[in-house]
Amino acid sequence: MRFCALGSGSEGNALLVEYRGDPGIAPTRILLDCGFGLRALTSRLAALDLAPADLHAIFVTHEHGDHVGGAYTVARRCAAPLFMSRGTYVSSGGEAEGVEAQVVAAGVAQSVGDIEVMPWAVPHDAREPVQFSFSAGGRRLAVLTDLGSITPGVLRMVSGVDALVLECNHDEAMLRDSAYPYSLKQRILGAWGHLSNTQAAALLEQADTTRLRAVHAAHLSQSNNQPALARAALAQALGAQEEDIGVLEQHAVGRWISV
Ligand SMILES: [Zn+2]
Ligand SMILES: [Zn+2]
Repeated sequence: MRFCALGSGSEGNALLVEYRGDPGIAPTRILLDCGFGLRALTSRLAALDLAPADLHAIFVTHEHGDHVGGAYTVARRCAAPLFMSRGTYVSSGGEAEGVEAQVVAAGVAQSVGDIEVMPWAVPHDAREPVQFSFSAGGRRLAVLTDLGSITPGVLRMVSGVDALVLECNHDEAMLRDSAYPYSLKQRILGAWGHLSNTQAAALLEQADTTRLRAVHAAHLSQSNNQPALARAALAQALGAQEEDIGVLEQHAVGRWISV
């Protein structure tokens, strides 16, 4: 299994997960979130020599625009099913002409080709937000963004994974000192907001990371965080080198990362 971030942050999120079980068989490709419009997504996929028609399914974590923005349009274009929780379905407009929407529930795995996708409930200020882990070929990848606090379920989600994409939204001091309005600061810092570098590091300290080989910080705030701060926090929690921690970018397509 391998994955590639097409963009990560409050201006738009999309990540590609791919698995080729057998060299003679076409790979399964899943798009996780689609905060980009059709044109932007198409050009980001083109950087990987792919097109929307190469996607087999789209999974959406929640109804915030940076995750669901272009999902319905892209699903219609590539005729791929769109998977989301019932709450996300209702909050994002629900039924749409030419889109096959399928409802998923936390704790109930969904198979797409050879990839098993597990939805996990997370604390975030949306109707029914979930985050997903992906299993294939004996490996597991968890992608965890848009949550305000660590729950026992979140801890179970990341424990024992081989690769992890983990929200490091903000540095708490930078956010507190920022020009953001008080109410927005409270929303981001709250239990249903976003994970700080410190919270992400605390999660790694509590989780079983014995299998963990790849860690990438994600959903970094452009104004209230710096890649070096996120990298340092996660490296310290894992006893790893800072250069071993990846940081997903908002404005550039990443590289393929093997799980
Ligand atoms: Zn988001
Ligand atoms: Zn969100």
